[in-house]
Amino acid sequence: MRSVHEVRAVAIIGGGMAGLRTAEGLRGHGYGGRIVLLGNEAHLAYDRPPLSKGFLKGELDQEAITFSRASRLAEQGIEFTAAASVALDPAAREVAADDAVICYDRAVIATGATARRIPGIPDERHPLVLRTVDDALTLRERLARADSITIIGGGLIGCEIAATSRLLGLDVTLVEAAPTLMLRSMGPVLGGICEQLHRERGVRVITGAGLADLLPPAGVGSAWSVSLDQGESFTSDVVVAGIGAAPATAWLEGSGIAVGDGVLCDATLTTSDPDVMAAGDVARFGLPDGTDVRAEQWLSAVDQARHVAANLLRPAGERAPFAASDYFWTSQYGLMIQGIGMHVGAEIRFEQFDPAAQTFLARAARGEETVGVYAAGSAREFAVMRRAFARQ
Ligand SMILES: Cc1cc2nc3c(=O)[nH]c(=O)nc-3n(C[C@H](O)[C@H](O)[C@H](O)COP(=O)(O)OP(=O)(O)OC[C@H]3O[C@@H](n4cnc5c(N)ncnc54)[C@H](O)[C@@H]3O)c2cc1C
Repeated sequence: MRSVHEVRAVAIIGGGMAGLRTAEGLRGHGYGGRIVLLGNEAHLAYDRPPLSKGFLKGELDQEAITFSRASRLAEQGIEFTAAASVALDPAAREVAADDAVICYDRAVIATGATARRIPGIPDERHPLVLRTVDDALTLRERLARADSITIIGGGLIGCEIAATSRLLGLDVTLVEAAPTLMLRSMGPVLGGICEQLHRERGVRVITGAGLADLLPPAGVGSAWSVSLDQGESFTSDVVVAGIGAAPATAWLEGSGIAVGDGVLCDATLTTSDPDVMAAGDVARFGLPDGTDVRAEQWLSAVDQARHVAANLLRPAGERAPFAASDYFWTSQYGLMIQGIGMHVGAEIRFEQFDPAAQTFLARAARGEETVGVYAAGSAREFAVMRRAFARQ
């Protein structure tokens, strides 16, 4: 095993938030060797949450959501390169980026995730998705010319696009296969309250329905034809699919790095190769109870990057386990909705609930034990409960 002093070069693959924060964290810990940050977008790392909120609404521009300027990266000695094709060879400790080969002593995989596409719909007939700033620019431009939008998928991002589109004055239809919106993040009781929020703001919410057929506009001035499996058909100027994200691991095929719905990592975020760690939406890591998880939350990506930066230079056997937090937030109609912990199999007990405003503060409980804390609005009270939950 190599010692800290022998680490002369670190390659970070994935130029998003987790990749950038890992690079900055390494400098923060005093690492003075080479850092190469490889992206595949034409942009420097930017913040994704505003893409479905303030940026989509037109309140923020690209500069406002960009984390760091090129000059700042240069000052920190972080070499950023955008490459169309990247391949990892852990045996040789090399990364091939287009025509260049970068030798590394440690590597970090931070390639994030890509928007899932609707199975069976070819690319030329596929509706828009929202993952990148380019996706958001396209959607923003379409919304500016549209009267109506249909969103397929009522998870966090689908609900955020619905809320922003309503705030922009569009007719919004939100189609969700599950019995209620935001089911995975909030469970049926709290998801039902969030669904009511959308209905009261004028969104046509259709739950328990899937897509049967989707036909793109036949020509200029015409609209999409949407057919649902419960028999309803309608037209819509814009259609967006918000059906989740898949980890960006295809590029690792044949590399020998173990993959399975994410890059498989142990509890320290070390991959199947001891010199390679992973961070962010792409990483699937072990939990103390023997299960594993892949987080798709902003705060988790930041925490993972911080953890990798602090542990990467150590030999694999001396790395600390990652302390995972499952906190998430979403903002819809200006209302901050947050949660931490779990709701599955738990009883929801309300500390506060205002049905008119759809604001609440709730605990998910199993017997006397609090297993999750959730809120819409009530940010200060949520912060207090969250701290108490963390101390349990
Ligand atoms: C529209 C939207 C809204 C969101 N809102 C919220 C929210 O409100 N709250 C919340 O907690 N989270 C939210 N998230 C999730 C949050 O943004 C992610 O958890 C976070 O961006 C993960 O960071 P990451 O660096 O791991 O991945 P990413 O941000 O996906 O960055 C990965 C980067 O790696 C690049 N890459 C991929 N493959 C390669 C390759 N082979 N070679 C080189 N580069 C590659 C990608 O192009 C990308 O630039 C939202 C996400 C989206 C898309």
